[in-house]
Amino acid sequence: MITRALARDIPKVSLHCHLLGSVPAATAVELAARAGVLFPGDPSAATVYDSTAYADLGEFMSIYDLIGTSLHTRDDYRRITYESLTDFGAHHNVWYREISVTPQPSQLPYPSALAGIVDGMRDARTDTGIDSRIIVAINREHTVGEAFSLVEEVVEHRVDEVVGIGLDYQEILGPPAPFSPVFAFAKRAGLHRTAHSESGPPAHVVTLLDELHCTRIDHGYHVVSDERITRRCAEEQLPFTCTPVSSDIGRYSGSGDGSHRRIRQMVDAGLRVCIDSDDPPMFGTDPSNDYYAVGNALGYEVAQLVAFTANAIDSCWLDASDKAALRTRLASWTPGAAEHHDEWK
Ligand SMILES: [Zn+2]
Repeated sequence: MITRALARDIPKVSLHCHLLGSVPAATAVELAARAGVLFPGDPSAATVYDSTAYADLGEFMSIYDLIGTSLHTRDDYRRITYESLTDFGAHHNVWYREISVTPQPSQLPYPSALAGIVDGMRDARTDTGIDSRIIVAINREHTVGEAFSLVEEVVEHRVDEVVGIGLDYQEILGPPAPFSPVFAFAKRAGLHRTAHSESGPPAHVVTLLDELHCTRIDHGYHVVSDERITRRCAEEQLPFTCTPVSSDIGRYSGSGDGSHRRIRQMVDAGLRVCIDSDDPPMFGTDPSNDYYAVGNALGYEVAQLVAFTANAIDSCWLDASDKAALRTRLASWTPGAAEHHDEWK
């Protein structure tokens, strides 16, 4: 049995958390009101994120986009980055995060948004110790030309904090193959590559590996329905960033019954599984709750949950010495010894 306190205490490395999906509800409502952006039904902070009301991924994404549309200044980006890294990061003993950032819904020029995000990362690190980097995510529902422009901007305004690119939004509306030239360009520019694959066929994972040269997959639960592809992913120790609570609600990792059965199958098949919280407040979760949920549903003990964190350390895009430091820190962790324990009650 994993208690909530223990789930919070376990160190975490976060590779699948979206900036626009981790804005606290009160901040989302406040920024939207100030920007004159209307959420459907004029909700309060208490109701703006009703995960049971998302009819499908498209409806969820429309709320997510409205949050992006509400961001108008560098300081807006600083604030949401800081709040995401503390409320849904350091307060849950997240040591390190690669933040997934989709710049498009905001009209603010990319360099200003980037500057605000870097401000928020620096402030969060100063106040709590959490370290972070940025993944700039392409909206796959838009054109390949737009994806190219975005990655060109990323390269033109290159900062050390940006370590890679991602491919977000609905897989069903943006299959991966057409984005191959964009990902090849990113690879030549020295950017790491990941992509979402939540609903497409297992063959999409092969496309992501062989044509987009991805080194991680976000979600990817459906690989378990293809034995040959699963075996290849296990042999190559391809990382999968699984998000139990949001994917259960979306019925990608199981049947919406909290069984997380595909995550169990992935672990049993020897795949390298990492656990994260995706869009935590939008799905009524947080990093600790995702560890709690998967731990209790699948009967995992502390050792398996710590192994998920170790997998994330192995799979992150820090350089070798930073990874080694995280491994050493994790190896010396013991339950109940976390210094943050009382501070963040
Ligand atoms: Zn995601």
